[in-house]
Amino acid sequence: MSDNWIRVIPTSPSWQPEPEAAKSAVDYLSGLFAGPDNAVDDVRAELHKDTALIDSGVNTASFTCAACSAVTGVEWVLDLVNERCEDLSDLDVHLPCCGAHARLNDLDYDWPMGFARFEIGVLNARRARYELDEAELHEVGRLVGHPVRQVLAHY
Ligand SMILES: [Zn+2]
Repeated sequence: MSDNWIRVIPTSPSWQPEPEAAKSAVDYLSGLFAGPDNAVDDVRAELHKDTALIDSGVNTASFTCAACSAVTGVEWVLDLVNERCEDLSDLDVHLPCCGAHARLNDLDYDWPMGFARFEIGVLNARRARYELDEAELHEVGRLVGHPVRQVLAHY
């Protein structure tokens, strides 16, 4: 069995919503997958005490450097996350390709992932168009009180 998650996270890694706002967004997302041809296994909000890696499971393989266009395997990021796991509040790095300064949350990943202290996970959503569109993401952002983006994860 494999699982697919839509992980909705704030664009700012340290931001957290009020509990009622998070619940409104969970209710909204649950409603999106409630039609007769749609289904979802679970929709849940999660607060992380500290900044956490919001990975995409097996989807992300590499990132491209904005300064020199070199492509680096995502393992470099994952190793760094493991080293810094006690404290991911500092996402500033110097990239291995050319030493350029960057933030782990803002790298150009071949498949989006990110860092956050809050997420809403949508597990095994089934509908014709799987991912959330711009209007739906905008509405989630309005409900929680901060712009959001999505990480599509496969485990
Ligand atoms: Zn570079």
